[in-house]
Amino acid sequence: MKIKLYGGTQEIGGSCIEVDTEYCKIALDYGIKIDEEIKRQLPTDFDAVVISHAHLDHSGSLLNLTKQKPVIIGSKMTREVTMDLLLDMIKIQTLKKKIYSHDYQDVEIIRRNWSSRNSVALPGMEINLYSAGHVAGAKMTHVKSEGKHILYTGDFCVHSSEILDGCDITKLPKKPDALITESTYGGKIREDRTKLVDKFFEKIRSTIERKGNILIPTFAFHRSQEMAKRIDQAMKKGRIPLYKVYTISPLAKRITGYFNENKDYFRKEIQQQEKPFKYKHVKHLFRTTQIREPAIVICTSGFGHAGASLHLLAEWASNQNDSVIITSGYLPPNSPLTHAKEDRVFNYKENTIDVKAEVEQIELSGHADQKELIQLVESVKPKKTILVHGNLDQAQMLSDKISKITEVFIPERNESITI
Ligand SMILES: [Zn+2]
Repeated sequence: MKIKLYGGTQEIGGSCIEVDTEYCKIALDYGIKIDEEIKRQLPTDFDAVVISHAHLDHSGSLLNLTKQKPVIIGSKMTREVTMDLLLDMIKIQTLKKKIYSHDYQDVEIIRRNWSSRNSVALPGMEINLYSAGHVAGAKMTHVKSEGKHILYTGDFCVHSSEILDGCDITKLPKKPDALITESTYGGKIREDRTKLVDKFFEKIRSTIERKGNILIPTFAFHRSQEMAKRIDQAMKKGRIPLYKVYTISPLAKRITGYFNENKDYFRKEIQQQEKPFKYKHVKHLFRTTQIREPAIVICTSGFGHAGASLHLLAEWASNQNDSVIITSGYLPPNSPLTHAKEDRVFNYKENTIDVKAEVEQIELSGHADQKELIQLVESVKPKKTILVHGNLDQAQMLSDKISKITEVFIPERNESITI
């Protein structure tokens, strides 16, 4: 069995791992890397492609497979959300008038070739999926072939959030010949989650006291619903004062509808509620002009590089009463949001904006931290461990911690490893 890594090596973005055996060849994830989607060419001659979850850095190149039509494997939630995200991507490319060779029919082809079963048999190969935490519908992939077996984590976390259970690592197959794991936080131990949530609410309370606006840039899928639910519940329980709260993203609204109809992906207490994502204190808007200030606004893009979040950042950043709360752990180096946080100044259209608002990062992330990653390795006991989806420094710090338990590889792009 040969493994070749086409992306997500010593970096985050563009995850794609080839598993080649005598009888069949598959890909684990088929993602894009922002700004590289046009020039990067992934191979297309796969018998099957497993999509771990619906984030575009794991699924965003799927439209390149409409000629070969391999079987696409992933949960039903991953299928539905990926279809929405691919349609959205076509819409954005069309608006930008970029040359983009895909249309809505291509998305349909991908949907028709999708298998949402948790166990799939291919020639000489068996594939089984396990819940990964991270986002609704995210799966780990276990591949058995030629008397060997490997486990790929995709993105995962062990801790639970308000709406989703974490990955139960005790249920995973033991002693794989290779474990391929993400290493986003390979070198980082996060503060206790309840403390982070306390800090988050404290920031909201203090901004409300000075009647400021609060911008929360968030991804349309999962993080937006999780954030709206977190704030809605806190207001119901009197943990934070009542204030106007809005979400702005047609895509997030569509996904919220899908979440309400597919409650079985979520925690027990969420399943017991009739419409868990129908909020009492959070209102959906279509555009920023509908906002009645002061308000809390949850909107896309999560990286603050486009859409309503960029627009509101430009509008509110120069006001010292306002706050921006970043909950994502990763920010692209050149995003205006990154400049607002680190340099306290950023460019928007023709203007240079000096930041007076508070910009704070409170990482309510869905990724395993170093403690959880070590827990996984100790529990699964792999012969080899291949670290992907993490910057080199993070992967190296994790490698130092686990190299006594397992043989560690930190491959480069296009490197092959024989199992
Ligand atoms: Zn992800």
